[in-house]
Amino acid sequence: MHNPGAEGNEFFLCDFCRRPWSEQRPMVEGHRGSLVCAACLSTAYTDLVHLQGGDTSRPGETCTLCLERRSQRHWRSPLYEQAIICLRCVKQSSTAMEKDPEVGWKRPPPPPGVEPSGETPDEP
Ligand SMILES: [Zn+2]
Ligand SMILES: [Zn+2]
Repeated sequence: MHNPGAEGNEFFLCDFCRRPWSEQRPMVEGHRGSLVCAACLSTAYTDLVHLQGGDTSRPGETCTLCLERRSQRHWRSPLYEQAIICLRCVKQSSTAMEKDPEVGWKRPPPPPGVEPSGETPDEP
């Protein structure tokens, strides 16, 4: 999301934690200026991909990034419950962030005790 009252890096806020963009906090952009930062993406990836967790959308809710209403699992921001990211956007954003050598982000490894899920096929 954007903060119209701010300039520079402070203008760009992660929709999920509302912290501003910085060198240490790269972001991936979705539709309509929506943004997810590396930290939130890591949390969402661990929750949805490794732990097979997440939330299903409530009636009328759409993914903050792709604006689509999908019946698959979402990760919901613990701070702003209207901010949700679908599994597909988590995977796409992870791929996009990993491709940028300046960012140097890597998708998080499975937590201890969790079997690596590998690349599970996308849910339809
Ligand atoms: Zn964030
Ligand atoms: Zn999405």
